[in-house]
Amino acid sequence: MTWLKRRRCLFTLFAFSVSVSFLAAAQVAADSSSASGPVVSLLARAIHDSAIVVDTHADTPQRFLDGNFDIASTDPNDIGHISLDKAQRGNLGAEFFSIWVEPETNEGHFARHTFDLIDSVYEQAARHPDRMMMAFSVADIERAHEQHKLAALMGIEGGHSIENDIHLLRDYYRLGVRYMTLSWSNTNEWADSSGDIDDPKVQHHNGLAEFGKQVVLEMNRLGMMVDISHVSDKTFWDAIATSKAPIIASHSSARALSNAPRNMTDDMLRAVAKNGGVVDVNFSSGFLDQKYWDAAQAQAKQRNAAVQAYVEKKRASGATVTYMDEDRIEREWAAKIPRPPFSVLIDHIDHIAKVAGVEHVGLGSDFDGVSGATPQGMDSAADLPKITQALLDRGYSAEDIRKILGGNLLRVFGEVERVSREMQQK
Ligand SMILES: [Zn+2]
Repeated sequence: MTWLKRRRCLFTLFAFSVSVSFLAAAQVAADSSSASGPVVSLLARAIHDSAIVVDTHADTPQRFLDGNFDIASTDPNDIGHISLDKAQRGNLGAEFFSIWVEPETNEGHFARHTFDLIDSVYEQAARHPDRMMMAFSVADIERAHEQHKLAALMGIEGGHSIENDIHLLRDYYRLGVRYMTLSWSNTNEWADSSGDIDDPKVQHHNGLAEFGKQVVLEMNRLGMMVDISHVSDKTFWDAIATSKAPIIASHSSARALSNAPRNMTDDMLRAVAKNGGVVDVNFSSGFLDQKYWDAAQAQAKQRNAAVQAYVEKKRASGATVTYMDEDRIEREWAAKIPRPPFSVLIDHIDHIAKVAGVEHVGLGSDFDGVSGATPQGMDSAADLPKITQALLDRGYSAEDIRKILGGNLLRVFGEVERVSREMQQK
């Protein structure tokens, strides 16, 4: 792609112009890594800033809609992962904001809540046109990058949002939604989820039902990326067999390193490589670190009961319950488990790059959706440059780092656009 070449040239120029003493200073900085991640050297910063950094999953719309959060907030005490300032400090170029409809509290009006969340993203972009713009294509992301604005994209998390209606799927595309996760933690009427696959009370479909396959093909035709994060293993294999375009995992990590059912096995990683897709690593501690996962499982019963009690008390008082309420309690419980070191995040990127290839791994933070449970040193989008430093420390080239930071996702998105054009010409 043209932008990649241009950025690489800039970097080459930069690399030749650095002095020996500077390189020595950079080396000192690179060695001073700790549990909360490496100190970012000037060299790493330059590589990081030469990339279009793309993150494929942030739950910030819950904050826009229910928390009355303004993305231009500069409140130093704000616990959120994303703001325009934090994005700027981390050179975050494009964010896919998650349109996630909690299936229990929104029972009976999934579509309405989907529209409300979509509206919340547009409203933020309208409020801050000088620093943020809605984006719907690879070209839009590149344009936003040139204008030094955050490109705001949208992905729907959970096929239940379409209410089994292909017309709604098309409406969401027209409103700008550019990926859909086939299921969230709940199995819907056409796709099994990893979240409830062992629950005998849930009606399953042995993967993707016939209508689910139609949904995938219509997504291909529209140019909406097919996202397999959260789905059951069988749904993954059905999706990959059905899709005519490369697929994405918008926020999934490696099961070989943390045995969570929604992480991906090495066989799945290899299948994504063959499909030409990309797996964007989730920054949530539980999906990255086995010890954290086990500790979170051990407290699950008590934690869920505490959340439930809080929700019921609030409901009884006549108040509306939102994700922000649940998140408050979840955070208290997450804080009881020690955060894993920063290096676990890099271990997953490295593992996926080794198993699937460096062309098939990217970033899918799950920012603002993990109740603060991220590894030490990864506290917001402002910490993204540490990833570049850590990859540099592990011997990755500047070119490969730029692929991981966003180049791979842009390649897949471009390919999905091309397949769509081809299918529409027929
Ligand atoms: Zn998710």
